[in-house]
Amino acid sequence: MQSVIERCCDVLILGGGIAGLWCAYHTAPKASVVVLNKGSFAEASTFWAQGGMAAALAPSDAPEKHFADTVAAGAGLCDEDAVWTLVTEAPKQVMALWHIGVPFDTDDGQLVLTIEGAHSVERIAHAYGDATGRAVMETLPRAVEQRGVRLYERATALQLLVRDGAWAGAFVLRDGTVELWRAKACVLATGGCGQLFAVTTNPQGATGDGVALAFEVGARVADMEFVQFHPTALAVGEVPRPLISEALRGEGALLRNAKGERFMPRYHPRAELAPRDIVARAIFMEMQETGMPYVWLDITHKGEEFVRERFPNIYHACLARGFRLGREPVPVAPAAHYHMGGIRTDLWGRTNIPRLYAIGECACTGVHGANRLASNSLTEGLVFGYRVAHAVDEWLHAPLPALPDSMPVPPSGYSDWQMLRQIQQTMGELVGVVRWADGLTAATARLTELGKAARGLATRWVTTAWLIARAALERTESRGAHFRQDYPASDDARWRVHLTWQIGGAPVWQHPPQRHQEPVHRLSNRQDRRNASGE
Ligand SMILES: Cc1cc2nc3c(=O)[nH]c(=O)nc-3n(C[C@H](O)[C@H](O)[C@H](O)COP(=O)(O)OP(=O)(O)OC[C@H]3O[C@@H](n4cnc5c(N)ncnc54)[C@H](O)[C@@H]3O)c2cc1C
Repeated sequence: MQSVIERCCDVLILGGGIAGLWCAYHTAPKASVVVLNKGSFAEASTFWAQGGMAAALAPSDAPEKHFADTVAAGAGLCDEDAVWTLVTEAPKQVMALWHIGVPFDTDDGQLVLTIEGAHSVERIAHAYGDATGRAVMETLPRAVEQRGVRLYERATALQLLVRDGAWAGAFVLRDGTVELWRAKACVLATGGCGQLFAVTTNPQGATGDGVALAFEVGARVADMEFVQFHPTALAVGEVPRPLISEALRGEGALLRNAKGERFMPRYHPRAELAPRDIVARAIFMEMQETGMPYVWLDITHKGEEFVRERFPNIYHACLARGFRLGREPVPVAPAAHYHMGGIRTDLWGRTNIPRLYAIGECACTGVHGANRLASNSLTEGLVFGYRVAHAVDEWLHAPLPALPDSMPVPPSGYSDWQMLRQIQQTMGELVGVVRWADGLTAATARLTELGKAARGLATRWVTTAWLIARAALERTESRGAHFRQDYPASDDARWRVHLTWQIGGAPVWQHPPQRHQEPVHRLSNRQDRRNASGE
């Protein structure tokens, strides 16, 4: 093997958003921890999160209610054990984040909680009004570093190594040089894949690297077809597109088509407050019908002053692009936003590869099912980041794993942006909000061709994109965020299953596990009784 610089630590974390950093924070006291992040920390999706994080913290709330809302949004595909873990552990984790200094919005010393679409009560903790992610990323990296964790920006994982089926190391491009990183355990926390689509809210680093890296060494991936499209990204020619939070619709903003007509009441009884996937599809249909690349979001009845105060960051993002939100309607269109699928893990972030863990958006714990409930993903990063910080204990007293007998040639760190454009075009045209068999077949064929020519990181982007398109073709029904024009109905009898993929194998169908504890309706009744009795 040509010589590469070799580096070691106890726990190697690839990706420095909320999940990777929270995991690092809790692992650090007992082990040497390194976080490698592809771009700067300000480029993680976490930095851009607006609304906040969900946790049952209000007196009127309970984990049972958070559970019921999450499962309802997940359209029959949530793993109930995972959801229960999320909702019961969320309050403690959000409070812990507050205590390390994240400046959550408060009133009289108490967290201010707000409500978002499909939540039944106020449970979203937020910071800087509508810039929660920025508050997290201004605080967390510093706190992690103070615990002795080494953080490196512009360090990109290129390839994972396995020996005897267990994780053994990673090739990483850092400052233009390929290095070999060895550790006792590795945690993938590389975020989402919105950048594989032409129109997205996700920052540049969200190219689904972690999913492909893990898949290539034999990790199982699941629910790949479920990509959530946010209905209202500002329709400007930028990548990523600025997000216009659904909290505006919560405040009464209306959607109008190119003719100025309000259209949502034709699609759903809850009109603008219908679930995200329904609003995204309705906007898509209206755009198709009118031939315009956007519809209008109109909150003029509230006035500019109100909008500037309530949504300062969104207001200024619009203003910077020439739109006076609150004074005039602004153009919006759906954009790829969140990936429910990813590397299949258990409730402790373990993949099927010993020593390899996955957390955050690149993982699939089954918590989101076919559709994520708003503001559950930051919370997921905290809950499962914390859990993996404990799970890695199982390797801390083991020696470093040996390297493979026959080491591969260190990979190229080349990023083929031209190829990324082609992937984005394919995914945007054929694997978007509305899908159909011929389009998906064409997409997989095109991606297979692109894969033959791909080099360096582009091979990973093609792999993740192909898995999404292929899984979307396989699932001949519509469910949650996955809508097939040729199969517009859900088919519970056949398709209430996760599609799980492993390299070299056919897809495996897995029924979502139900909760092992008491059924939720009994818990809810008990909770209601407790509330009624004033306990
Ligand atoms: C505009 C926007 C608004 C959102 N608002 C909310 C919200 O209000 N509430 C909510 O719960 N969720 C929200 N989300 C979703 C949420 O922000 C993300 O799901 C969550 O932050 C993901 O956290 P993460 O730690 O898994 O990944 P990220 O925060 O994306 O961090 C992953 C990091 O890994 C890096 N990386 C990628 N590939 C590699 C590689 N090969 N090697 C090394 N590093 C790599 C990336 O560059 C990135 O820095 C929003 C998302 C966006 C884009």
